[in-house]
Amino acid sequence: MRRWNGWGDDSKHFPLKKTTHKFLANAIGEGNPLKDATFEEVVAKVPDTRLPEHALISTGLISTDKADRLRHSRGQSFPDWLAMRSGEFGVFPDGVAYPENSAQVRELLKFAKDNDIDVIPYGGGTSVVGHINPEKSSRPVLTVSMERMNQLLDLDKESNIATFGAGTPGPLVESQLAAHGYTLGHYPQSWELSTVGGWVASRSSGQQSLRYGRIEQLFAGGNIESTEGSLDIPTIPASSAGPDIRELFMGSEGRMGIITEVKVRVLPIAKKEAFHVVFFPNWVDAITAVRKIAQTKIPLSMVRLSNEVETYTQFQIAVPPQAITALDTALSIRGAGKQKCMMTFGVTGSKAHCKFAYEQTMKIVKKHKGFTTGTLLGKKWEENRFKSPYLRHGLWEKGYAVDTLETAVDWSKVTTTMRDIETAITKALDSMGEKVHVFTHLSHVYNQGSSVYTTYIFRCADTYEGTLERWQKIKDTASKEIVRHVGTISHQHGVGVDHAKYLPAEKGEMGIGAIQSLCDYFDPKQQMNPGKLLRKE
Ligand SMILES: Cc1cc2nc3c(=O)[nH]c(=O)nc-3n(C[C@H](O)[C@H](O)[C@H](O)COP(=O)(O)OP(=O)(O)OC[C@H]3O[C@@H](n4cnc5c(N)ncnc54)[C@H](O)[C@@H]3O)c2cc1C
Repeated sequence: MRRWNGWGDDSKHFPLKKTTHKFLANAIGEGNPLKDATFEEVVAKVPDTRLPEHALISTGLISTDKADRLRHSRGQSFPDWLAMRSGEFGVFPDGVAYPENSAQVRELLKFAKDNDIDVIPYGGGTSVVGHINPEKSSRPVLTVSMERMNQLLDLDKESNIATFGAGTPGPLVESQLAAHGYTLGHYPQSWELSTVGGWVASRSSGQQSLRYGRIEQLFAGGNIESTEGSLDIPTIPASSAGPDIRELFMGSEGRMGIITEVKVRVLPIAKKEAFHVVFFPNWVDAITAVRKIAQTKIPLSMVRLSNEVETYTQFQIAVPPQAITALDTALSIRGAGKQKCMMTFGVTGSKAHCKFAYEQTMKIVKKHKGFTTGTLLGKKWEENRFKSPYLRHGLWEKGYAVDTLETAVDWSKVTTTMRDIETAITKALDSMGEKVHVFTHLSHVYNQGSSVYTTYIFRCADTYEGTLERWQKIKDTASKEIVRHVGTISHQHGVGVDHAKYLPAEKGEMGIGAIQSLCDYFDPKQQMNPGKLLRKE
């Protein structure tokens, strides 16, 4: 069953290894475990619903059950995590609706409009920026879960277009397509729970974006229901007929309406796929090679480059303790010592395509003093590619907090941006006498630049409030660095609440005004997910 107070399936446990614990204790000090609230304690805090009596409730389309409302109150951001663990949720939705089709979504929006109810579209609830959290409001709040709209509705094999119910999660997207020999190839790390509608509404990026593209390239059209009416976006391969309406809904974060059907561009499943790991002696060689791979457009399906500290940390987390020294020594003999950086890359396609992509990549890798260690590490990456979110639990049990943040900048700024973000985070808790362990990778590369994805681990304070204060300090300092370097405030996580105050720096006054006008057009009473994306504070 899905965890109510953390990530993923509650039958999956990945406790912190003793050696990883020791490594962290040496790096930032012994952890400080905090006491978790129980499900029963939190359910007891859910207030009675404020929704008016209505047939939609009595017929079961809307649930006012307290456990249901609790399970749809928070996403997966770090403040969400603290709220769930402490039991201090603050605000709960007044009801959760489970529509099965667009007509029911229309009924729900009419009910909301007629009765002055705020509406939060809910996909997989995997938001890491506060997207789906109800805000304190004098109006009742209805969360609309899309989980029952989870079917492949149509597959046009001639045009490679698949139509899905917007609530279809990653595994169901792929299994329903695989039954016909097709794939979407969109694998955000939240793949097991996030949904196709959520991907569109928050502009997500999958691990193999190099081959398949981000959701912007995959989203071909679909259906949207708003309080003001319905909108069908037809699938057209390309058009010069004015601004593209699809763009309005990508990144709309539930502010303009509910996406009910999503049409995506799919491909026949590739014949072959393999992942490889190579090592470079240092960051300069590594990033130069990765940039060249991106700019010569070698047809890989993914590239991920870990910096020195991430490479070292990955060894501590993923490599069996008895093998770390042997691996370190073997790499060192081949020229990759303490400053080594690890690159993981994927080849996907026909046999000939994969061979070509591999050989072209290795030419550049070798030119920059990189080398491979065989196929084992690539296979391990593939096996574990969706497991690392579970590590938050293992760390938490030992009193450590972990979070990530990300941006994207042009190649000319990638290294300085990465270093400055890391320095800012490392120093963020100096005044509290606390250390932070920080590391980074580049996970999505483009001709023009790259994403920069930073992970940080710090010790919990003695209280939940103190732990939140530590996180806030780190987040603020790092976000200011991102803005200073003119990076995007989010390459793939979206805006929600946590990034909203930094959005005007990126979009400018006229840009924000234009987005606000669009929201007002589709939602004049500002009932749709208020407080997200655009925030007046
Ligand atoms: C462990 C972990 C790993 C992650 N890895 C990645 C990653 O690799 N790449 C990446 O891009 N993101 C990643 N994310 C972030 C998150 O998964 C994405 O933002 C994802 O696209 C959210 O999808 P969802 O279905 O869970 O949407 P939700 O979290 O439910 O909602 C997100 C936003 O979209 C709106 N929304 C959802 N469905 C609809 C709909 N049908 N109509 C209108 N609005 C809707 C919601 O109102 C909300 O504003 C990760 C998150 C976690 C927790």
